[in-house]
Amino acid sequence: MVITGGSRGVGAAVARLAAEREFDVCINYVSDLKAAEEVADVVASHGRRACVVQADVSVEAEVESLFAAIDSEFGRLDVLVNNAGIAKPQMSLVQMDSDRLRRVFDVNVIGSFLCAREAVKRMSTELGGAGGVIINMSSAAARLGSPHEFIDYAASKGAMDTFTVGLSKEVADAGIRVNGIRPGLIDTEIHASYGEPNRAVRLRSSIPMQREGSAIEVAHAVLWLAGEESSYVTGTTVDVSGGR
Ligand code: NAP
Repeated sequence: MVITGGSRGVGAAVARLAAEREFDVCINYVSDLKAAEEVADVVASHGRRACVVQADVSVEAEVESLFAAIDSEFGRLDVLVNNAGIAKPQMSLVQMDSDRLRRVFDVNVIGSFLCAREAVKRMSTELGGAGGVIINMSSAAARLGSPHEFIDYAASKGAMDTFTVGLSKEVADAGIRVNGIRPGLIDTEIHASYGEPNRAVRLRSSIPMQREGSAIEVAHAVLWLAGEESSYVTGTTVDVSGGR
């Protein structure tokens, strides 16, 4: 299994749970090598193989190097988790510049397309592969729109939902299932990264279950989609959002 953005937050939880479920795991990161290596140590403690590969998913050559590293380390790829994602400081559309918009779409959308392309090349039974699973990390923001906060981020996740539908139909007869997950408010460092570390405290009461989610709760959904228990599920996106 390769997890983009596997060094922290949701991706790190997926990596740890995947190792418990006997996957070898490639942990991609962009800046935090130490965090990625700590996750790799946990994977190894479960007796599984781990590799750590730096790549900015928005850069085509770096994505190609990431998948080349998987080829040489593992020789096969069963599951891609398109998890790497960013959000920028909260503001309204009238304040957003094009650099910001491009960066959000480059990482969240183009990065996921590039990684999926490389995965399909290796998984497709029409291209000599053994099939596989692709899981796209969307967000409840795709449904909610995130007005006056980050409608760019929300729209990028809306694009992911449509990507999941389209790609799932494109590769269904090539042995590849493609699904998505829409997490709600999850307790990770992403909120600090855009400037509101305590967003969960502010919004908790708007969540029907009255609490934020944890990364491991998202990871459990990812591992269900990655495994045989979801063998007839493709082209759908699962909400993991406490009812929001
Ligand atoms: P996080 O804690 O901020 O972690 C982000 C991860 O992505 C890190 O591993 C980071 O690597 C990596 N990353 C960032 N930019 C990258 C790039 N250009 N190329 C490769 N890797 C990159 O985020 P999170 O909360 O776990 O979010 C994971 C996914 O869930 C994202 O797609 C996010 O949009 C989605 N999501 C999160 C929430 C939430 O409330 N947390 C809700 C809905 C959806 P480094 O460690 O090297 O920086």
